[in-house]
Amino acid sequence: MAYHELKLTIQPSQREILINHLAGKGCLGFIEDDVHLIAYFPDMLDIKNILSEIDAIAPKEKPDTIKYVYSLLPDQDWNESWKKGFKPLNAGNRFTILPPWEKETEGRINLIIDPGMAFGTGHHETTRSCLVLIEKYNGKIAKDSFLDLGTGTGLLAIAASKLGYRKIVAVDTDPLAAEAARMNMKLNKVSNIEVREGSMNAVAEQYDCIAANIISGVLIMLAPEIAEHMNQPGIAILSGILSEQADEVILEMQKQGLTLKESFPDDKWISLVLAK
Ligand code: SAH
Repeated sequence: MAYHELKLTIQPSQREILINHLAGKGCLGFIEDDVHLIAYFPDMLDIKNILSEIDAIAPKEKPDTIKYVYSLLPDQDWNESWKKGFKPLNAGNRFTILPPWEKETEGRINLIIDPGMAFGTGHHETTRSCLVLIEKYNGKIAKDSFLDLGTGTGLLAIAASKLGYRKIVAVDTDPLAAEAARMNMKLNKVSNIEVREGSMNAVAEQYDCIAANIISGVLIMLAPEIAEHMNQPGIAILSGILSEQADEVILEMQKQGLTLKESFPDDKWISLVLAK
């Protein structure tokens, strides 16, 4: 398969909006530096549609704030570019996220992630916030069961397994994410995670900890089921919430009888810890 590459020059304030938008349009991965955001798409997507949407994001009065250079890359080049961009990254006090071709860091909990076609390499603030909170509440609640709702690459489930949670379920509505998560579990040699394709409909049990890094709208929609599937006592770590949407999510969770334990901001995002 060939790949579309878009090398975007954008204002820092537009970066998050664009990443979210392009991820929703089928972007496979990003490489970022101080000035550029490089986005890769599979060649079966119609790049003209994506380019016209990018043009629409630029403010009308300043149409030149988003510039891009487009290239069509053969398969091999994409892999090489991606590998160059994916360096080991520390998250929380103890985790290091690394691709399979890098060396593990001694003395840290290494999370080996081959991104495949899924979200969750730790390069996004919301993923890192979830790792910080999973680590922070580790030991403060029972560790019998953990649910990773919207697992993507499987990163949060793998982190939970390496912290000692006993029975872990990871669900994702996207079959490609479920496939990537299963592959990453093998890479990390963890065997206590069950990956299921689906959402809360694929979940029957109750959990000591539920982690869900999805968007606010989905969290609100799933609020009753999230609350229902939490153990008492138990916590839910919710992320993917833009700051201005946090109050709405908190209110919805409180309606389900949950109490807010902590709000954890990172840039434009807020992650929440709720208790039952
Ligand atoms: N947990 C990873 C990935 C988060 S991206 C991390 O923290 O980095 C969000 C994931 O949720 C995507 O893989 C998407 O396919 C999945 N998803 C979106 N809506 C969902 C739903 N209603 N139920 C389950 N998974 C969902």
